Amino acid sequence: MSKPDRRNAMPPCAARTARISEISENLEAAAEVGRQTAREGTVSAQIPALASVPATKFAMAVATVDGTVLHTGDSTETFSIQSLSKLFALCVLLQHRPDAWLDVGWGPTNAGYGSVADLERNNGRPTNPFVNSGAIVVTDRLITHSGDAVAASINLLRRADPSAPVDSDAAVATSESLTGHRNSAIAHVLTEHGILKNPIDRVLQQYFSQCAITATVQTLARASLFLADRDNKFNPLDAASVRRVNAVLLTSGMYGAAGDIAYRVGLPAKSGIGGGILAIMPGQGTICVWSPPLDSDGNSAGGIAAIEEFARLAGWSVF
Ligand code: GLU
Repeated sequence: MSKPDRRNAMPPCAARTARISEISENLEAAAEVGRQTAREGTVSAQIPALASVPATKFAMAVATVDGTVLHTGDSTETFSIQSLSKLFALCVLLQHRPDAWLDVGWGPTNAGYGSVADLERNNGRPTNPFVNSGAIVVTDRLITHSGDAVAASINLLRRADPSAPVDSDAAVATSESLTGHRNSAIAHVLTEHGILKNPIDRVLQQYFSQCAITATVQTLARASLFLADRDNKFNPLDAASVRRVNAVLLTSGMYGAAGDIAYRVGLPAKSGIGGGILAIMPGQGTICVWSPPLDSDGNSAGGIAAIEEFARLAGWSVF
C-alpha cells in the first residue's frame, strides 16, 4: 500500500497560511459576485424602520472550525438579524429541552412564513421553528425557561466572543410592534389553541426585540460554528440536535426557496428580511453575508449569489 510522500509536504504553519490565503481569495471573488447580483434585489419595507437601510451595504464572513474568521466589506457594521434570530433562539431552547421539536414541528411548508391559514389548518401547531408561528412558540418557551428570551439569544451569540457587539435595536422593535399585525394575529391564534404559556403582549414584545437583535457578519459566522462542529466537546448542543437543526435549516430555512437553495448551493442556511444569510458546511465552517436587497422569495439576492459562488469555489456542499 502506498504511503503519502511527506518529502515535499509543507510544514503545518505554511499549510495553514496557504489555506487561509485560498479562503481569502475565494471570499473576495464571491463577494464581488454578490455585490453585482445585489443590484437585482429590493430592500424590504415590511418593517418601516428598516426600509431606509442603504442597498449598497455588503458584508461577508467565513469562519472555519479551527477558529479562523475572515471577512470583507462592511463587516464591522452591525445589522438587523431579523429571522436569523429564530435559529439562535431555537438552539438556546434545545439546550434546555432537546424535545422542543414536539412543540414546533420540523416539516417544510410552502404556505409562507407568516401564514395564519397554515396554523389554523394544523389546529394551532406550527409547521417548523422557522415560520413565524414556530418562532413565536420558541420565544414563549424561552420566556418560561429564562425569563428573558432576548438576553438568552444574545448570550449564545456572544458565547464565542464575550465582547462581540450584539444588541437589540429598540427603534426597530417598536417599528415592528406598530405594524406587525400578522404576527399579532398568529399569537392570538396560538393562544386560542392553548399553545402559548405566557401573556400575548409579553411574547410579542420579546419576539419583536429578538428579531431586532443587531450583530456583525463576523459575530454570526463565529457564533454558529457549533452547528458545523458537531463532535466538539464544547458544543452547547448535543450531536443529535445539531443534526436536526441542520436538516430543518436545509428544508425550511430559506422561505419558499429551500429546494432551489439545496439544488444551487447544497448547504443548510437561514435568511432574514434584513438581508442576512447564514450557511453551514458541516465539518468545515460557516458563511455569513449581509446585503439588504431581497429577491422575489424574500432572500438576500447578493447573499445567495455570494454564498453560491463561495461554496462552488471551496467545494462546500453537504451532497
Ligand atoms: N420580524 C420579522 C417577522 O417576524 C422577521 C421576518 C424575517 O426576517 O423573515 O415577520
